[in-house]
Amino acid sequence: QAKAQGGNAVCHYAAEMVAASVNRLELQADLRGAAGRDEFKLMYQPKLDLATGRMTGVEALVRWQHPRLGLLPPASFISLAEASGDIVEIGRWVLHAACHQLAAWRAAGQPALPIAINLSALQFADRNLANEIDGTLQRHGLPGNLLELEITESLVMKDPLHAAELLAAMRRIGLRISMDDFGTGYSSLAQLKRFPLDSVKIDRSFVQDIPHDANDTAIIKAIIAMGHALKLKIIAEGVENAEQLAFLQHHGCDEIQGFYFSKPMPVEQLYGFTRTHKDKPTILRLV
Ligand code: C2E
Ligand code: MG
Ligand code: MG
Ligand code: MG
Repeated sequence: QAKAQGGNAVCHYAAEMVAASVNRLELQADLRGAAGRDEFKLMYQPKLDLATGRMTGVEALVRWQHPRLGLLPPASFISLAEASGDIVEIGRWVLHAACHQLAAWRAAGQPALPIAINLSALQFADRNLANEIDGTLQRHGLPGNLLELEITESLVMKDPLHAAELLAAMRRIGLRISMDDFGTGYSSLAQLKRFPLDSVKIDRSFVQDIPHDANDTAIIKAIIAMGHALKLKIIAEGVENAEQLAFLQHHGCDEIQGFYFSKPMPVEQLYGFTRTHKDKPTILRLV
């Protein structure tokens, strides 16, 4: 009996594995050409300045509108796309969509609101990336300082010389550069000082348990102090409640992002987004 059950359990497990890998293969096949079919969509999450309460910009986060499965989050397709190489095409789609949005706001006479996009390792490995971004900005008639690039530690540490060169080229175009998910990789801020960064985003995992977790509060205070000494702007990701916000504000964190203020939202919703923090109005007047 037990043996039969064990056998079934193994069988069941194997079947699930097969189903999962078939799904993976199917998804991977569906992903091919999805950018050309315009199946992606950008959601925007605001970044807020803790001193003024103003929105300083938004981060563009990609979603895949799958023809059968509905709206899929990046976790369900980015790693597949990295593996297949499709991420390069998706990244290009994201760059174009962000520039298109920036140009539309400009044409409508809206106050400038920078958009940050996330770069993948494969995109970053491309020696022509700075030229490509420059060309896209020019085609849309945009200054470089409206676009921000979010990169990660692993991405720059893989080939630091190439990274330093590429980031310098991006700086010359006027792009802002932000270190995303900081603290989850194996680099220190001291190592990062050789890269031309504007800001550092403290990973959500460190923000989650403040102000209660003594280790996390110590780490965050250290990142803020050292980051400021290196003239970097510090942004906390994943702020979900008032206690976290108060801690970050008290310790001089510059900006926050998180569900406490807003989830990523479609552009139509961003237009009407207003919120007050204490008695400081968040200035959000978008079309
Ligand atoms: P990320 O760049 O670190 O983006 C932050 C993620 O945390 C987003 O998840 C966002 O929705 C989520 N988040 C924001 N605030 C909170 C909060 O208060 N609580 C919690 N629990 N989560 C919060 P999302 O949109 O699912 O994106 C996940 C990751 O996928 C991103 O992490 C980024 O690494 C990657 N990604 C997203 N868009 C792109 C893209 O266009 N290209 C590339 N290469 N990667 C992307
Ligand atoms: Mg990011
Ligand atoms: Mg992040
Ligand atoms: Mg993160």
